[in-house]
Amino acid sequence: MSAAVEAAPGATERIKALNDQYIINTYGARKIALVRGEGTHLWGVDGREYLDLFAGIAVCNLGHCHPAVTEAIREQAGKLLHVSNLYYIEPQVELAELLAQVCFADRWFFCNSGAEANEAALKLARRYWDQKGTPKPLVVAAEQSFHGRTFGALTATGQPKYHQGFAPLLPGISHIPYNDIAALEAALTPEVGAVLLEPLQGEGGVRVPETAYWRQVRDLCDRRGVLLILNEVQTGLGRTGPLFAHQGYGITPDIMTLAKGLANGVPMGALGCTEEVASGFAPGTHASTFGGNPLSSAAALATLKALTAPGFLEHAAAMGEYFRERLRGLASRFECIVEVRGRGLMIGIEFREPVAPLIERMIAAGIICGPAGPNVLRFLPPLIVEEHEVDQGVAVLEQCLGDLEW
Ligand SMILES: *Cc1c(COP(=O)(O)O)cnc(C)c1O
Repeated sequence: MSAAVEAAPGATERIKALNDQYIINTYGARKIALVRGEGTHLWGVDGREYLDLFAGIAVCNLGHCHPAVTEAIREQAGKLLHVSNLYYIEPQVELAELLAQVCFADRWFFCNSGAEANEAALKLARRYWDQKGTPKPLVVAAEQSFHGRTFGALTATGQPKYHQGFAPLLPGISHIPYNDIAALEAALTPEVGAVLLEPLQGEGGVRVPETAYWRQVRDLCDRRGVLLILNEVQTGLGRTGPLFAHQGYGITPDIMTLAKGLANGVPMGALGCTEEVASGFAPGTHASTFGGNPLSSAAALATLKALTAPGFLEHAAAMGEYFRERLRGLASRFECIVEVRGRGLMIGIEFREPVAPLIERMIAAGIICGPAGPNVLRFLPPLIVEEHEVDQGVAVLEQCLGDLEW
């Protein structure tokens, strides 16, 4: 590894002091400041090296500073960073063409984040039915879901803890239990125009519904004339094995939202939909200043080309199998582990108690990982992770469980 960082004594403390003085305290206290990354490795400002098994919450799927993405950003930055959507944007249309070639969605809208992509989906669904002359403004979402922090996405998020203190929320969104087809059927009154679901719930604890559920959801939406919106913000871009998680379920949604891994670290979100549903938006009905700008589009285009290169996703899927197999081995020896869940390289381990102290120990031992709710430890490694790195992560986890006497 070429990329050691020279230790800067006192730098972490200096950054922490500035953070504490000037940053609004929405993230709480943290322990480390990361300043450099390469592949699956990160370096702190203090010179410490880490193995990254979290990828910036499923963002850097190609690993840090992937050469093709870095080169695309470098080239685009020297040419044109930004023009508005009042003009055609070459890398944006090339990105949309490539996206259309690799999934169901014929038409694309670009924005800057997952929450924005979900906002766009909620607006599109409403306006689609309104344009048809049969307004169906209600939306059904799932309990324990996560869709983002803007008001529409926040309302759709089925976790009361995120709603506290923000009332009144957006009217017209209700919640049903996830992975329960009878509950969905009962919720689909004639005013419901869309169902918004994650293919696997991420923030809600890495919850994986039965595969049969998805065929039932699709059939039900078809029979009732309801749009199916899949939030692939976390599950998309190879995270669960296939390029998009729904491709592994053998169904297609009407609308799909993306963000996180789309541009490997450059902020970008997207909404893809069928030709039919795209007719719900017309000029002037939705927009974004930065959405699909030359820089983020060039980064996303390079990212998507690398993700769809021959063999890339097969490697990620195989590493996912291997990682979960190793973790199940651990689970058979540790009483504290309730369950190992996930698909591909989106992995959750449910424990009998809160995982915060475990994560702190893992990071202190050089492994970056994170939570998914209070009792679930989550691994979201870059998709380029190798077997020996998985082994290293599992060995450190075993060591930390021993140290904690769990
Ligand atoms: C992260 C996430 C979001 C929110 O994305 P932001 O870019 O933070 O707005 C929405 N939905 C899912 C499933 C996510 O994982």
